[in-house]
Amino acid sequence: MNITFFGAAHEVTGSCHLLDTGSKKILLDCGMFQGSDFNEGKNNDTFPFDPKSVDMVLVSHAHADHCGRVPKLIKEGFSGPIYMTKGTQELAKIIWEDSYHIMSYNNRKFQSPILFYPEDIEAAYSHSTGVLYNETIDLGSGISVVFKDAGHIFGAAFIEISVNGKTLCYSGDIGNKDVPILRETEQLGSLDTLLIESTYGNRLHESRKDREKIFFDIFKEAIARGGTIMMPAFSLERTQEILYTLNDMFENKKLLPKIPIFLDSPMAIRAIDVYKAHPEYYDEEAFKKYSAGDDFFEFPNLTLTLRKEDSIKINSVKGPKCVIAGSGMMNGGRILHHAKRYLPDERSMLVIVGYQAKNTLGRKLYEGARQVTIHNDSVSVKAKVTAIGALSAHGDQKKLVNWVRHAKKVPKTVFCVHGEAVPATALAHKLHHELGIEAFVPEEGECFTL
Ligand SMILES: [Zn+2]
Repeated sequence: MNITFFGAAHEVTGSCHLLDTGSKKILLDCGMFQGSDFNEGKNNDTFPFDPKSVDMVLVSHAHADHCGRVPKLIKEGFSGPIYMTKGTQELAKIIWEDSYHIMSYNNRKFQSPILFYPEDIEAAYSHSTGVLYNETIDLGSGISVVFKDAGHIFGAAFIEISVNGKTLCYSGDIGNKDVPILRETEQLGSLDTLLIESTYGNRLHESRKDREKIFFDIFKEAIARGGTIMMPAFSLERTQEILYTLNDMFENKKLLPKIPIFLDSPMAIRAIDVYKAHPEYYDEEAFKKYSAGDDFFEFPNLTLTLRKEDSIKINSVKGPKCVIAGSGMMNGGRILHHAKRYLPDERSMLVIVGYQAKNTLGRKLYEGARQVTIHNDSVSVKAKVTAIGALSAHGDQKKLVNWVRHAKKVPKTVFCVHGEAVPATALAHKLHHELGIEAFVPEEGECFTL
């Protein structure tokens, strides 16, 4: 049995790992590369393996960097089954349709290539089976898989794969501790090998209590400044949890005045319907609110701006106000229109809540750029830029190490993927020194025998 790492190696995007059991070729995720133009250009390359030779795909969750190239795989000849949780299945379709929408726009405007078409999205959806958490799926040839709750986004799973008595787990992305709505990451089973994400492999986040206080204080400050709070958010990452927290702050924690909040992301608005349709994924607190009839995605000062016309109208609303919009790393989407307008305003604030990959506009602003380019225009940055690390959807080093430590059987071998070189290496060292695990940070294209 061997594994080859075809993406998310020394970086956080493009997750795609090929497990060859000898009898079956199983692809673990098939995500988009994101960030710089160079990185995104890699999505146009032909796959470094023959899609026709792949027997099946297992998808960990609906983020584009994990599921985004599945329709392209179909377009290039893959015809096997695809397994993911039911929640992922519904969210992935939204992600694929949104990608197609952006690709066709870019194609009309800049003649950039289109990776797949609506018929490929339909085929990807109809090839996929939505599974339940903890359901054992027999794949034949002595192989079975179980999807367990990763606590990362709605429907996100880590996947345990048993092959003739050997067990490998693919972490997908592992959630932060104690986040609203989602349940905690489940315990790892008995393992031989683990592929673990390492986005924050060298960082520690604040606790939930601390992060709620930081969030509250940022809003207090922003309200006092009187400008616009811009929050670039991944539509499927923290947007829903942010709304949940804001609802709680306005209704129970006396955050005043109740300033207008705009959710200016069509994809996030569509994703809310999936959240509402699956209360079985909620944690205890969210389920209690749901059962008592509290709709935490609706509060009087929240406006959902699905249509472009409504988005434009946000400009005429006086501050203080808050706009939550995609994309999360500011490399596209409606957030750019708001950034162009409000970054030069010293009363405004940009609040970064998610991971910012190298070379993205979000990363440049996070690192303190005072002059940036948006839509070919030079924009000066006078707004205050601040970040809340703890609002990330990824677990920190402590969470990841403890997750491995408390496995039913700690794996002998770990591969740190989905992290830039520094955090991935830091996590590998930690796992080796604290738990005696042989830990690797694979290069793209590198193959290991298991
Ligand atoms: Zn993710």
